[in-house]
Amino acid sequence: MAGLYFHIPFCKRICGYCDFFRSVELKYLPDVVRTMHNEMDEQRDFLNDKSLKTIYFGGGTPSLLQPEEFSRFIDHADKLFDCHQVGEITIEANPDDIDKKYVEQLRHTAVNRVSLGVQSFNDAELKLMNRRHSAQQAEDAVKRLQDAGFENITFDLIFGVAGFGEVVLLESLSKTLSLGVKHVSAYHLTIEPQTAFGRKASRGELNEVPDEQSEREYDLVGRMLTAAGYEHYEVSNYALEGYRSRHNSSYWHGAEYLGIGAGAHSFNTASRRWSQQPLREYITHREYESEQLSLIDRFNEYLMTNLRCVEGVNLEQISSLFGSDKRQMILQLSKPWLESQKLILEGDYLRIPTRYFMLSDAIISSLFEV
Ligand code: SF4
Repeated sequence: MAGLYFHIPFCKRICGYCDFFRSVELKYLPDVVRTMHNEMDEQRDFLNDKSLKTIYFGGGTPSLLQPEEFSRFIDHADKLFDCHQVGEITIEANPDDIDKKYVEQLRHTAVNRVSLGVQSFNDAELKLMNRRHSAQQAEDAVKRLQDAGFENITFDLIFGVAGFGEVVLLESLSKTLSLGVKHVSAYHLTIEPQTAFGRKASRGELNEVPDEQSEREYDLVGRMLTAAGYEHYEVSNYALEGYRSRHNSSYWHGAEYLGIGAGAHSFNTASRRWSQQPLREYITHREYESEQLSLIDRFNEYLMTNLRCVEGVNLEQISSLFGSDKRQMILQLSKPWLESQKLILEGDYLRIPTRYFMLSDAIISSLFEV
């Protein structure tokens, strides 16, 4: 079963931390949408498995599209693929796009999950991030969606922002819990050099938070959400029972996906492909970069994605996919982590306990084959 991803690479303004593929040149939006439909026809054979399980509109800011555009994409997908088992259709949305009329129209589409880019419920922090919504607008957007019957709502939150410590984070988490969303993705701020935050940092106007504070904030997120009944099922993701992100979970478990749009990535188990062209070129002639994944690449990627999830890696499956020598290699390299209980072996599953998720990059990379 595969996933279908649509990348809507437009934003009205650029957030201070953002290094995604996006543009503020909204004049290209109609042509990009038309081109994406052409690209769907051209790429219909990329997936080996033509049955879709999930559809996801990400960005950028998909809520810059009118809801009927989502229906056009979904109907088109239905003509090209087997969509009978699609159970989750998500759109990412900016809270200030979610007005009453928008929600009414969205209700008439097949979209059944909304991912709101909330980031924080502190207006000063939102301003620093150059977000275009306020805390109140985020709250209003959730209530509007819930009143219209959208019960599967997820928030993105950002923590680890210098100058906004645990007190502000606590407020954002409390508000999140009071709104009863089903899923939360909480990411530590990363300051990339080519972003506005990166430029501020190089001028000494913005700092990374110290490691101890990062750990305290990560811990606070985990404690508050798990105490409220959310399962910490991936390093950055928490869900109430039955509300894990099916689309992202399928990425993490190695399912195929087709990405449509400039900046979208695709994966069909043997190769990864993407286009990162400027929008004007994407419209006139699409070009893709691609890489064939070696056995070592696939093995390392399998470890990376599965060990970030609460279930961990299945060693039996590793043997059948990559050979029994890989299983032996992992067990050998895991020894120090097993002794310090930062990895746990239960039956055929090797996993990182959630309290050590913060160390997952170091643990996982030490198991890589190089
Ligand atoms: S809305 Fe999302 S994609 Fe657009 S600039 Fe902000 S973080 Fe980047």
